[in-house]
Amino acid sequence: MGSYLDHAATSPPTREVLEAVWPYLVQVTANPASVHTPGQQAREGLERARATAAAAIGCRPGEVVLTSGGTEADGLAVLGIAPALAAARGRDRHLVTSAVEHSAVMEPARELERRGWRVDVVGVDGSGRVDVGALAGAVTERTALVSVMHANNEVGTIQPIAGAGRAGGADGSGGVAALCAERGVALHVDAVQSAGVLDLRELWALGSAAGGVVAVSVSAHKLGGLRGSGLLAVRSGVPLEPLALGGGQERGRRSGTVDVASAVGLATALAAAAARREREVVRLAGLRDRLVAGVLAAGAAAGVEVVLTGAAPGPERLPGHASFVLPGLSGEVVLAELDLAGVACSSGSACSSDSDDASHVLVAMGLDGGPAGAARSSVRCTLGWSSTDADVDALLDALPTALARARL
Ligand code: PLP
Repeated sequence: MGSYLDHAATSPPTREVLEAVWPYLVQVTANPASVHTPGQQAREGLERARATAAAAIGCRPGEVVLTSGGTEADGLAVLGIAPALAAARGRDRHLVTSAVEHSAVMEPARELERRGWRVDVVGVDGSGRVDVGALAGAVTERTALVSVMHANNEVGTIQPIAGAGRAGGADGSGGVAALCAERGVALHVDAVQSAGVLDLRELWALGSAAGGVVAVSVSAHKLGGLRGSGLLAVRSGVPLEPLALGGGQERGRRSGTVDVASAVGLATALAAAAARREREVVRLAGLRDRLVAGVLAAGAAAGVEVVLTGAAPGPERLPGHASFVLPGLSGEVVLAELDLAGVACSSGSACSSDSDDASHVLVAMGLDGGPAGAARSSVRCTLGWSSTDADVDALLDALPTALARARL
């Protein structure tokens, strides 16, 4: 068995998820919209799952829109909520977002731009942290929607949604959410990377239908649920234009027969993550700190530059997240060598792994995106529920050879 250090790309399903899902794959298999008894049984399972997921977020069950994952949830927020707010509340066709969002937000934002919207993209500092001052300059009381992620997938930086000083601040003062709430502007937060390790209830509390956090995206497969499943929590009173038209499921907000098994998996994963969060955060941070120290030491021993990217390990960084650039080395060769040794890491985001483009996140943070620039030499090691000391050991054992072979 190799070592899997790519939980930010996807985590394997947990045993408790598989056990919870199984009956909905083999026994309770009717369409939850059917009125017969098997259909009602499926519906009961679905609504129980919805209530469980809602409890983990702190929202009402009716505020949960089940989707096919984080990408659909993000798209529904940007392309469904922003135009609906512009129409229903007479807001400007104006979206404000950040330079480090996942493509699931960036591409819908570009689509709004193609439709004639003004899209302001706010920059970040050297650690990937959104510039709240610049955001304050861009957001007006007429802005339709702001979309800023909870934590970045490539560099693990937790964004100042709750507070400017501390990423997890409870009062929200000085953060993106408070700024939006003060101006009566709706905020969508992509919580795909944070859902397993940060408190979504605290996040959801940072808004009302009038402004602040009104929508939160979650994806099941980042926290031990099944791939192809997620949700968008949408605060009641916030209008949403559906993107999928059809049978009117999910209260008309997302048509299509609901995948009950996946919803059960998502709810199980969310509830389990919430129950063990405090312990898990400490455990993951301990593994991550050993990993970071070991990688930096391996770089020093090999005489190569290895730089940790993103926020320093601490309250402003996801606990299981380590990301580096290796200027002067080929990140791709390092990853290939590690893979040969049975260690699976990635270059940043799963979707940019196949492309030659420099990471837009690292470039926004000020790193060189040129042909041999540091932004092209990234290596990301991310930990999750199945990670152990042995995974970190395997990486640290394989690294010296990988570094030696990757000199440009
Ligand atoms: N948003 C972020 C921050 C992500 O990291 C990802 C996946 O990598 C997504 C959205 C897309 O989620 P999904 O894979 O469920 O479509």
